Amino acid sequence: MHFMIALLILSGVLSLGAFIIISTKREFQKTEHLSLAILSTCVYIAGSIFEATANSHFSAYRAIIVEYVGLPFIAPHAFLAFADFYDRRINIHLRRSLFVFPWLCCILVATGNPYNLFYRSTSFVTGPPLPHLLVEPTPLYILSVSYTLVLLLLTQGMILMQIKERKGHRHQREVSLFIAIGLPILSNLLYLFGFTPYGWDVTPVVLAITSGLVVFAVQRLNLLQLLPFAKSTIVEKMTDAFIIVDSQCRFLEANRAAMEIYPSLKAVEVGDIFTELDDFSESNFVPFGSEEDYPPVRAANGRYYHVSQTNIAHNGKIVCTCIMLYDTTETQNLIHTLDKKAAHDALTQVYNRGTFFQIADMELATIIQQGGQAVIMMFDLDYFKNVNDSYGHQCGDEVLQVAAQRLTKRLRDTDVFGRYGGEEFCAFFTHISADNAVELAEKLRQCIEVEPFMCEGHRIPVTMSVGVAAYDSAIHDTLKDIISDADKALYVAKENGRNQVMLFNKSMYNE
Ligand code: GH3
Ligand code: MG
Ligand code: MG
Repeated sequence: MHFMIALLILSGVLSLGAFIIISTKREFQKTEHLSLAILSTCVYIAGSIFEATANSHFSAYRAIIVEYVGLPFIAPHAFLAFADFYDRRINIHLRRSLFVFPWLCCILVATGNPYNLFYRSTSFVTGPPLPHLLVEPTPLYILSVSYTLVLLLLTQGMILMQIKERKGHRHQREVSLFIAIGLPILSNLLYLFGFTPYGWDVTPVVLAITSGLVVFAVQRLNLLQLLPFAKSTIVEKMTDAFIIVDSQCRFLEANRAAMEIYPSLKAVEVGDIFTELDDFSESNFVPFGSEEDYPPVRAANGRYYHVSQTNIAHNGKIVCTCIMLYDTTETQNLIHTLDKKAAHDALTQVYNRGTFFQIADMELATIIQQGGQAVIMMFDLDYFKNVNDSYGHQCGDEVLQVAAQRLTKRLRDTDVFGRYGGEEFCAFFTHISADNAVELAEKLRQCIEVEPFMCEGHRIPVTMSVGVAAYDSAIHDTLKDIISDADKALYVAKENGRNQVMLFNKSMYNE
């Protein structure tokens, strides 16, 4: 007898421990009903202990009242706890209605079983095995037991469906939950049909074991629930962005990166028409178009994104589209740097010959098509070989660098300027007359001559000759034709004594 009471107390301690664990661990989610189911179990076990230690009908009935503050609520709370775990939607009315009958039983017992509605009669017996209240059940009492059993069976049904759906680790856990909920059903049936030792109602002990098992299993369940949590954290923190829209172009979801790229997403509500948003009304996004990639975009935050679109199908039907924006800033910057390197001369940092031809050719094509003026200037440093010979190749390089800088500084951004080769540079101008070009060339010539170049403490005087040729549609078909004429003018400038500007004229063809 003492052993049985000790077992009841141990069960009380176990379920109390389970209650404390489940209600204090913050990382547990959706466990309100489980907490209440275990709390109800604790109350029920406390009542059972009182009943087992009662010495009169009065004290035994008081214990029964305590039991009924807990017992009828265990099954509905357990049912809802599992419904929540498995995301089964149960509306608030159904949730509430599950507690109507338990409350009725609780009130009937607590108010002294009026009109013998719940028990036909009760009598106090001292054993065996323990003191308890012997009750003669009414249909309502049988209904309350059945109600509990049905809810527990439904709970098991939910677990069974999970077992069917899941495999592996989760499968094991669901099996242990299935057994845990099955234990009180089994013990109840054994008790009702008189198969328990000495006719003892072992339900309190079994419920304590169930509470312990469920908490153990839920702890593992919640560990697995960390996975979606971890996933959503990663999604929020990643620099790549995504936006999900449904088949009617209605906004569904976007992560933080997407909102940083498109600030208008911050104010958007689920269901708003996506293409009406400020950031997208002008864009060429075609949700549910082909899954082709879009051209890279440069967002307001200055970063580059590669945009792609993936249609998401459900049951063979496309239901939504995920627009992904991959941060390609680093790659774009690298391409930019490589492009810049490929386009520029390594020593002087002005355009190299290839780039010069490419850009000038394009601009000349426009002039040829639409009409307008264009000029080519060829610059050649005078006696540059002497600079190398007198001050060394290193100084020659420095003079070339500084000369390029001096010339660039005096040109407009729209002028095309490049290193033609060796100590020769060339420039292409549009919308400038031949006279103005000669004036400008003179200034450029002077900017080289006016100040000696400094290298390793030497003052190096340098001069430059310039050949100028204006585009003439009568004689020029290509850029090379104008360059060739500018070269002729340069040759004449050299012949005439260097350090001067010479404008091409047709008489030079004869020289
Ligand atoms: P001219 O007045 O007739 O142009 O005489 P020049 O000496 O400048 O002409 P020439 O074509 O005979 O010599 C050009 C020299 O420029 C030869 C070459 O060593 C030098 N040069 C070409 N490219 C570079 C370079 O990248 N660095 C240095 N330091 N020298 C270069
Ligand atoms: Mg030369
Ligand atoms: Mg030269």
